[in-house]
Parts: sequence; C-alpha cells; structure tokens
Amino acid sequence: IDSKLPDVKTTVFTTVGNLARKHKAIDLSQGFPNFKADKKLKSLVSEAINIGYNQYAPMQGYYGLREAISEKIETLHNRQYNPESEITVTVGATQAIFTAITAFVGNGDEVIVIKPAYDCYEPAIILNGGKPVFVQLDAPNYKIDWELFRSKITDKTKMVIINTPHNPSGTILTKWDMQHLESILKPTNIILISDEVYEHIIFDGQVHESASRFSDLASRSFICASFGKTFHVTGWKMGYCAAPAELMAEFRKVHQFAVFCVDHPVQRALAIYLKNPSHYLDLNNFYQQKRDFFVEGINSSKFKFKPSQGTYFQLLDYTNISNEEDEAIGKRLITENGIASIPISSFNVDNRNDYMLRFCFAKKQETLEKAVEILCKL
Ligand code: PMP
Ligand code: GLN
Repeated sequence: IDSKLPDVKTTVFTTVGNLARKHKAIDLSQGFPNFKADKKLKSLVSEAINIGYNQYAPMQGYYGLREAISEKIETLHNRQYNPESEITVTVGATQAIFTAITAFVGNGDEVIVIKPAYDCYEPAIILNGGKPVFVQLDAPNYKIDWELFRSKITDKTKMVIINTPHNPSGTILTKWDMQHLESILKPTNIILISDEVYEHIIFDGQVHESASRFSDLASRSFICASFGKTFHVTGWKMGYCAAPAELMAEFRKVHQFAVFCVDHPVQRALAIYLKNPSHYLDLNNFYQQKRDFFVEGINSSKFKFKPSQGTYFQLLDYTNISNEEDEAIGKRLITENGIASIPISSFNVDNRNDYMLRFCFAKKQETLEKAVEILCKL
C-alpha cells in the first residue's frame, strides 16, 4: 500500500492503555479523569434529548453554546468573538486543530511545532503536504528559546502551533513569552494555532495567558479548546475554535465537509452549564489539590521533578532509578510494578537528555494514593 503516513504507528494512548488494562495496572497514562462528571451536566443532556434536540445542529454549532463561549472569552480575556461568524463547535480540540491545519496548510508550507508536542499535530501537517519544523525544548525547564524560534521562520512558514498549559511538560507560557511571540510574528502573515485545552487547569495562582489577550496574536489565531478537559467528559469529544471571521470562514469550508456539525443534545446542555462561571473557575483549585497531593507524595521517592504549573500531567525524571530508555521502563512499570505512564519520547522529542515519564493525576484520591505508594517503592 502507498501509505500517506508511512511512519505513523498506532497512538501511544491506545497501545499503553491496552497494556495497562491487560495487566490491571493503576492507569496514569492517557489523560482522562477516573471520577464522575457533574450530575447536573449529565441531566442537562438527558433533558435536551427528551425535549427533542435530536436532529442535526447548525453547521457552526448550537447558537446558545456559541454565545456562551463568546461571553466566557470576553469575561476572561477581554476579547470579543462574534458567535455568528467567529466561533465553531467541534469534535473536541483534535478536530479543531486538524481542520485549521487542513484549511491553510498546503504543499511545501512549513509549520513550526514546539517539541515535546502532542501527537496529533505532525500527522495533520504531513497529510496536507506541509512540513513540520521543530523547536526542541530542553528538560527540565522546557522553556521556549525565542531567538531559536525566530531562526526557524522562513518565507515558507505558514503556521505556528503553540500549546499552553503544555502537554506533557506542565509548563505555561507567560505574558512575557506571549509578547515575544507577538513581536516575532507581527511583521509576518503567519497563522497561529493556540492549543489551550488546559486553559482552566493552572496552579499556584498563575494566569492563563490566552492568545486572545494579545491583539496582534488574536488577529491571526485559532484558539482551540476542549470541554472534555474542563468538565471531566473527555469521552464526549466536544470542543470549539475561536478565530477572526476571515480565518473562520475558511475553517468552516473544511468543517462542513469533514463533520458538518457535532452532537446536538450535548451542545444544548453545555450552553446552559457554561453560563455558570464557577463550573470552570473552580477547576484550578480542584486540580491544585490533586497535583499537591501527588507531588508531596512522591517527594520521598527517587524521582526528580519540577511541579507541574498547569495541565493534569506531571513529568517525573527516572534517572536515579534506571538508565533504560523511557519506553522500556514505562513498559516494565506496567508489567512488573502495576503502574502505567506515558514515555516522553511519544511526544516526538529528538533530544534524549530527558529521561521522563508522564503521569496523569486526574484521578480519584484512592487511585493517587495507590500510585504514590508504588512510585515511592521504586
Ligand atoms: N491538545 C492537547 C495538548 C491535548 O492534550 C489533547 C487531549 N486529548 C487535545 C489537544 C485533544 O483534545 P480533545 O480530546 O478535546 O480532542
Ligand atoms: N490528550 C490525552 C493525553 O495526552 C490523550 C487523548 C488521546 O488519547 N488521544 O493523554
């Protein structure tokens, strides 16, 4: 077969998840909560089904949801997005990212990607004939070197993808970072995808610096977000994308033929649920407690780490425990010790100085307790 993606294997989230289930390991690999979603939200979905939201939604998304998203962005980031022309509801952030790439990237276009990178960016670029150009971040701080970043821009650069808070490192881009990015992109026509799926999971009183807060960045950005992360419903695959009308018009040309529209009753439920800001503003505290419990627990282990600043992931450096490659130790921890994590090499790192495993702490207290116990014995 003449494959369009000859180098792509089944994603690590599937392979490691399967191995974890087979060995009944404590699963801190794929990022998903193992606790229940809010009853109120679930009953809003049943209500929407019962009152008849069972046919196609509008192509751009249920209007009430687009309106609620627009209000949320304006309240948090002081930027107006017109629900009619500048917001589209998508099948999770994954489809938003794929669609934005497909709408703009063509043969020979370069797309700057920050590594370690979430695994869905690169195949989408390649499928569209584009060329990923990487900026590697170094362990343990994973900070962007903006001069290195600037040096990667050429006359073929069509797009840049950033992700803050960052999966898997748990770092965040500060206001200073965003201002640097803004000044570098200002003289160009480069489009930005800002993957902000962990926008509401940020710790120690820090602020999420959305690209929508910066005028020039906002004017060239697709802001991609995920209700799955925010409302503990990753299986609903619900997200959205916000962008200026001119960019969004191109996005919708692709969206309408990729999916046309997304789940109607869930959109209706989210529209009502999103109107109460405490439903997302309380998330920082909720996850701060989990992060604190996890990092305090492993303080006495042999792992080295910098506490995650955002996301529900913690990277742990295992060099005091083993000199194996990350995939090998990751596998061994599942089969011999009963705990599953994601090796950092799955995030396409080409710098093998970081001997890291990624652990998801979006888990019940009892799961975290068991995980800490196992990790402290290694
Ligand atoms: N971007 C990042 C950085 C992620 O971690 C995820 C998690 N799956 C996604 C995008 C995709 O989000 P969704 O599940 O809403 O498609
Ligand atoms: N974003 C999730 C993670 O990083 C995984 C989602 C998926 O399985 N594709 O763990």
